[in-house]
Amino acid sequence: MSTRTLYALVALLFSAALPLPASAAWLDREEAIMGTRVYVQLWADDPDQGDAACAAVMADMRRIDNLMSHYKPESQLSQINARANIEPVQVDKELFDLIKLSTHYSQITAGAFDITYASVGYLYNYPAHIRPTEAQIKAALPAVNWRNMLFDEAHHTIRFEHPGMRIDLGGIGKGYAVDRGIEILKARGIHHALVTAGGDSRFIGDHMGRPWLAAIANPDDPHNPLKVVTRIPLTDAAVSTSGDYERYFDENGVRYHHIIDPHTGHSASKVRSATIIGPTATQTDGMSKTAFVLGPERAMEIINRMPEYDAVFVTPDGRLLYSNGLRPAALRPPGAPPAPPDPRVSPPTPIVTSPRAQP
Ligand code: ADP
Ligand code: MG
Repeated sequence: MSTRTLYALVALLFSAALPLPASAAWLDREEAIMGTRVYVQLWADDPDQGDAACAAVMADMRRIDNLMSHYKPESQLSQINARANIEPVQVDKELFDLIKLSTHYSQITAGAFDITYASVGYLYNYPAHIRPTEAQIKAALPAVNWRNMLFDEAHHTIRFEHPGMRIDLGGIGKGYAVDRGIEILKARGIHHALVTAGGDSRFIGDHMGRPWLAAIANPDDPHNPLKVVTRIPLTDAAVSTSGDYERYFDENGVRYHHIIDPHTGHSASKVRSATIIGPTATQTDGMSKTAFVLGPERAMEIINRMPEYDAVFVTPDGRLLYSNGLRPAALRPPGAPPAPPDPRVSPPTPIVTSPRAQP
């Protein structure tokens, strides 16, 4: 035996006698919270600290659920629905701010996103195959209007201006909870992670040196991983998918599902699914209902105007529509001027025009 081999053997025997240091690892945890699947996956230098980080995210999700669930009569959101028709209802700043923020998405989606949809939405019960009659919808619809929420910044109170109004944060609360989870992980020094709640996910860093892959389900076979329609590589980004296959029932060839057109009170069916990519999950959740209500063309115009977002829509006839940022640059004909720069790659230089050149 050579001296080197002997040393190696001694070192091996010696190290075997010592307790093993805890080793870095990928950890994950799954729980049912907010009526959906919540999933956390992360890279932990220390497994105990990684476990504690997963537990902290789950605990915060439960806290948010207790605050904002419309299923829990004791939640502050339920208090608003019970009393804001009669008097201003005071709530925690966190809930106040999220409800106020929801009106920003109402504004930029031309009212497609509207948490007061619940004034008619509560008349649907998908598992029980119950839907409102036309007369019930007509009676409830005047209460759907986000402009009829009155906010008092100083006291964090919310008041409804119209009788019969209700709100529901099912369209933005999971995205918000995912963002909170990501903040918790970042504060604990985690550099690679995924947090998912229902259709809303956000990634920190990459996954084993490669981008994370966000798979977009096939609306006709949503639980079949072999049938996904496309996969999008992402790092440090959020992605939300809304689909007409999540909560629904079919009756006489019509699908009644959980995304409601606030203007009609009916299920909004202009696309089968909409995936939005952006910096935070609150943003992508807030935007992922737009195409169902406004249709893919109008929704894509909105997305293409906002450089921080991208989108993939699956149309009722099975086509995939991509926002400009996900499409390869068009081939330029010979002799054509160079393509304008992508504003996301480098900020565009301001174009100076003479006042006469302007229309
Ligand atoms: P997930 O819960 O899987 O993230 P979505 O992000 O697609 O699902 O949100 C669907 C939920 O949004 C519905 O269950 C309902 O609570 C709420 N919602 C439905 N229609 C609207 C709408 N027009 N504006 C705002 N929220 C809506
Ligand atoms: Mg969502």
